[in-house]
Amino acid sequence: MTVAIIGAGMAGLSCARALAQAGVALELFDKGRGPGGRMSTRRVELDGRELRFDHGAQYFTARDERFRAEVAQWRDAGRVANWPAAGPEALVGVSGMNEPVRAMAEGLDVRWGTRIDRLERVAGEWVLHGGEGVRGGYASVVVAIPAEQAGPLVADFSSGFADRAERTRSEPCWTAMASFAQTLPLADAITTGGAVAWAARDGGKPGRGGSESWVLQASPGWTRDHLDTPAEQIPALLLAAMFADRAIEPAQPDHASAHRWLYAKAQPVAGEPALWDASLRLGLAGDWLIAPRVESAWISGRELADRMIAEPG
Ligand code: FAD
Repeated sequence: MTVAIIGAGMAGLSCARALAQAGVALELFDKGRGPGGRMSTRRVELDGRELRFDHGAQYFTARDERFRAEVAQWRDAGRVANWPAAGPEALVGVSGMNEPVRAMAEGLDVRWGTRIDRLERVAGEWVLHGGEGVRGGYASVVVAIPAEQAGPLVADFSSGFADRAERTRSEPCWTAMASFAQTLPLADAITTGGAVAWAARDGGKPGRGGSESWVLQASPGWTRDHLDTPAEQIPALLLAAMFADRAIEPAQPDHASAHRWLYAKAQPVAGEPALWDASLRLGLAGDWLIAPRVESAWISGRELADRMIAEPG
């Protein structure tokens, strides 16, 4: 019988690939239009050119041996590369940060654009509500979405899992995307202690064609103070803060947009790296169970798959 996986980000896909390798039938559901989750890449058409902005994760590292083995395959296929601007271990997807997620989704049954709103358990099987309607007959369900969204989905079935999710808080993050006709006199990756926690010349990452496109990520405190500020005002505010912080001449962008991440970086509480209830056949995975990093999401998904295979219930 089939496993349903809700969330096809790094954690859900890591779980899916390990299960698929073990011969388990599965279906994934993701509300997003395409692969990425918090490793998304936004494409913008400007004067016949395509600009790409990694508006979620900026880069990732690989220290776990199992993750390193997967990263080596992506590297061999030209789908990730080092980005020395962020440090000797920094890796990015080529030619967008969502490339590893895209690679992992290949060959799997992923229903994009399908949001699951509610779970139900009928005669020992899982039923999913959302998207185009109701889908039943699943032996197991995996919830691989941010803690704040996972808690309400599982609360009717496991107070322990819901409690762990509810005790996890995520920092929000306003992200501005801007491109310029001229080169800004700045390094490719900068951190500041002010409103802008991080800014990067995205166009300078491998495979991006060298465009002068920038991503600016606001600090959690600034984001909280501006949660209800209209998105169209955010780029000007963050650009002004960056120009002032770096003491450089303000420049006018030829493209500017913004994205508000409500649950950008989780602050995990201590506990297991993945949650599995073999009697309910209900599992949870995600970065929020370990640390707010790409690698942690991958590890959590793998750990959950290992437990599901070892303790089938
Ligand atoms: P997600 O990527 O959030 O995947 C969850 C998926 O579930 C999404 O695709 C979503 O569409 C889907 N979903 C949610 N709810 C539902 C539902 N009800 N039904 C169906 N689908 C649903 N990490 C680093 O390592 N380095 C960095 O530099 C870094 N910078 C970051 C900067 C920002 C602004 C943000 C937002 C994150 C950053 N991170 C960084 C964190 C990293 O992106 C995450 O740790 C990682 O991508 C989490 O993967 P995940 O699979 O756990 O969750």
